Amino acid sequence: MESKTPRDRSINPKLKNLRRNINFDIDQLFEGIRKGDIVHLSKAITLIESTHPKHTEIARKLIDRCLPFSGDSIRIGITGTPGVGKSTFIESYGSFLIENGTKIAVLTIDPTSQISKGSILGDKTRMEKLSASEMAFIRPSPAGDSLGGVARKTRETIILCEAAGFKRILIETVGVGQSETAVHSMVDLFLLLLLPGGGDELQGIKRGIMEMADIVLVNKTDDDRVNLAKETRRDYKNAMHLLPAKENGWPVKVLNTSGLHGIGIKELEEEVQGFEALTKSNQSFNLKRQNQSSYWLEESLNQQLLDTFKNKDGIKELLETLKTQVTDHKISPFHAAELLIKEFLKQ
Ligand code: GDP
Repeated sequence: MESKTPRDRSINPKLKNLRRNINFDIDQLFEGIRKGDIVHLSKAITLIESTHPKHTEIARKLIDRCLPFSGDSIRIGITGTPGVGKSTFIESYGSFLIENGTKIAVLTIDPTSQISKGSILGDKTRMEKLSASEMAFIRPSPAGDSLGGVARKTRETIILCEAAGFKRILIETVGVGQSETAVHSMVDLFLLLLLPGGGDELQGIKRGIMEMADIVLVNKTDDDRVNLAKETRRDYKNAMHLLPAKENGWPVKVLNTSGLHGIGIKELEEEVQGFEALTKSNQSFNLKRQNQSSYWLEESLNQQLLDTFKNKDGIKELLETLKTQVTDHKISPFHAAELLIKEFLKQ
């Protein structure tokens, strides 16, 4: 028999049957989720990920039902280049949280999963300890044809996880591309993992990502890297002063951690709680969530308008024709867009 990795076990084993069976009992799923039942939760997330129109409809209803029971968590984004130690850190931090009685969900947004099929985040056996715990729910990145689609599904998954009683949602992403922006638009707090030594250019960290971070972790502060890691921490602390102050009044923290040896994990949790206390007391916590919801409304509207537009009879063909004319400099892009809209409104 094929051996199962802990990761496989965290996914609904009836996944294949699910795709065929489109008769779901929403009441049953909803009640299961509210009881914190992992099988029901997994099933519901698979519905969210499905592209079958019937699934989409059930998923939408289920999300709306879960919505009033969501929100009671801290959503934490975690990023850093491959190899910086994200999964080891999540295993360590997650275990710490669980030991303190906090149920955690670990989700990932991995843009490489839809490009190469073999994803950067997904091809390792990761977080074995967490996978074995009933207090943790681990779900790999949903597949999708666009980052926007993947991000939307993850955001909806957060709602279900919260309704199922998970109090910390850790959302991991690789430190490449646009996925940080997507994660940033759905989390309360953003963690950036860095390695000891080397400036941000060397670590491939873009300034935009540095600016998103609420807490920076100089990870792998262990063995013969301890001194270097402390120096790196000082450097980043100084660099942080040069960045514009955050509107929420939170001064960015830089900590030394070692996911492997559990160093700095307790201190990190203290900072996370400090962040929560500050941003809740000055209302910026809620304000950020409200802004994120508006952002997602606009995003969804844009996406749905675009889909409706492109799927309308004749538009695709006209778009192709006009594209050629635009690249041949026969018509300006602006004019072409105008013609397309006219055609769309005419129908
Ligand atoms: P990810 O790609 O960012 O998820 O990184 P991993 O967690 O898979 O770790 C990459 C490698 O670094 C593995 O060989 C880990 O054992 C090692 N590693 C991870 N965290 C630490 C740490 O805190 N200290 C040390 N020394 N090694 C670590």
